[in-house]
Amino acid sequence: MIMSATRSGSEPSAALLTAASLASQAAGQGTAMHAFCTQLYPMLRSITGQGVRDTLAAIGHHIPLTVTEVPTGTKIFDWEVPQEWVVRAAWIKGPDGRKVVDIADHNLHLVNYSAPFRGTLTLDELRPHLFSLPDRPDWIPYRTQYFKRDWGFCLTDRQLQALEPGSYEVCVDTDLVQGSMTFGECILPGDSTEEVLVSTHVCHPSLANDNLSGIATATWLAKTLAALPRRHYTYRFIFIPATIGAICWLSQRQDVTQRVAHGVVISGVGDGGQYHYKRSRRGNADIDRIMALMLAESGEAHEQIPFFPYGYDERQFCSPGFNLPMGCFSRSTYGSYPQYHTSADNLDFIRPEHLERSLQLLLTAFGMVERNGTYLNLSPFGEPQLGRRGLYSLIGGHNEGQKLQLALLWVLNQSDGTNSLLDITEKADLPFGLIHQAAEALLNCGLLGEGRTPV
Ligand code: ZN
Repeated sequence: MIMSATRSGSEPSAALLTAASLASQAAGQGTAMHAFCTQLYPMLRSITGQGVRDTLAAIGHHIPLTVTEVPTGTKIFDWEVPQEWVVRAAWIKGPDGRKVVDIADHNLHLVNYSAPFRGTLTLDELRPHLFSLPDRPDWIPYRTQYFKRDWGFCLTDRQLQALEPGSYEVCVDTDLVQGSMTFGECILPGDSTEEVLVSTHVCHPSLANDNLSGIATATWLAKTLAALPRRHYTYRFIFIPATIGAICWLSQRQDVTQRVAHGVVISGVGDGGQYHYKRSRRGNADIDRIMALMLAESGEAHEQIPFFPYGYDERQFCSPGFNLPMGCFSRSTYGSYPQYHTSADNLDFIRPEHLERSLQLLLTAFGMVERNGTYLNLSPFGEPQLGRRGLYSLIGGHNEGQKLQLALLWVLNQSDGTNSLLDITEKADLPFGLIHQAAEALLNCGLLGEGRTPV
């Protein structure tokens, strides 16, 4: 195995896995990932409260997790940490005294973050507090109400249409209290203090693709990387409430943001849609180029999307004050599928094989991130003799061998200490794995050595 001397000295990284062997760790994990989603599905998550804590506790059974509580009212840039939401019960009883809607049946029935309310209302008075999807009469919508002190219920349109005139008893037994906002972090130390930041949100109740698929995939990524005997980068996985949680994390970890070399937001990776990678605000960060390369080499149908200031938490990480090199990796994109933010985004909508493939692709990308060294050709005056060093026996006469010969020549030619293996891969239009294999062979026979840190 090779290691770039521009990174952490001359000690060879004997333990570093190749991208292929790292990605192979995903095999057979889809079933367990889906089972983890099933375990998390019933938890009543919101931007604050016990649902997030329970979720983090479950994640903590798989990976080392540090949980941080930031008190309500704490100033976080232009915002402050909101009150903590406590839910005990929420239901509506019809004119005949029977419950017509009950959060005990489905977490989505209560508008998330609803303020407490008790009272008896006519159907006309109740209606402005009821939300359904007329186009999808059997689905319950997901609605939130974070910034207005009000309450509401979501129900199927069939339920709504069946409501008879009369008086309805409403119970929203919730509280909004001085508590805290909770986030979790899993830090896997590497040789370098530079970090790879992986973020996923943990604030959606009983929704599978958005966001349990991201939670399971990030957890399994961390679990796989944690099992490596050695890593070049320090990896930080953050499990945060969306938007306000990302702003909260950024405000509490401003020192960390200085060290983020690469990052990715993971969301919506369990459905059957094609892959999407939304580039960072920088547009051409190494992570953008690596994700593009990984997807191209994967053979998967995929699309790259330029940065836009909407979507998931890349909005916060790529705000101009931070401008982190972070894009967003997903299958179907934010809001693009009918099940999005409805009860149809359930455990059947995500599949073990889709989760497993997403894990495999991200592990492939991180394998590239780990191995993207910069080297120096130690025999730069004319081409060195490859035969004398046994490199022709590696090449042979076959087609793959010719590609390897080309890769050796590309690496020798470009390794002036300023071009990374990623740069060379792009110029040569050869697979990253082949360029890496060539670099490894050249290092082993002494033709390649320590590079300089690119300027
Ligand atoms: Zn969402």
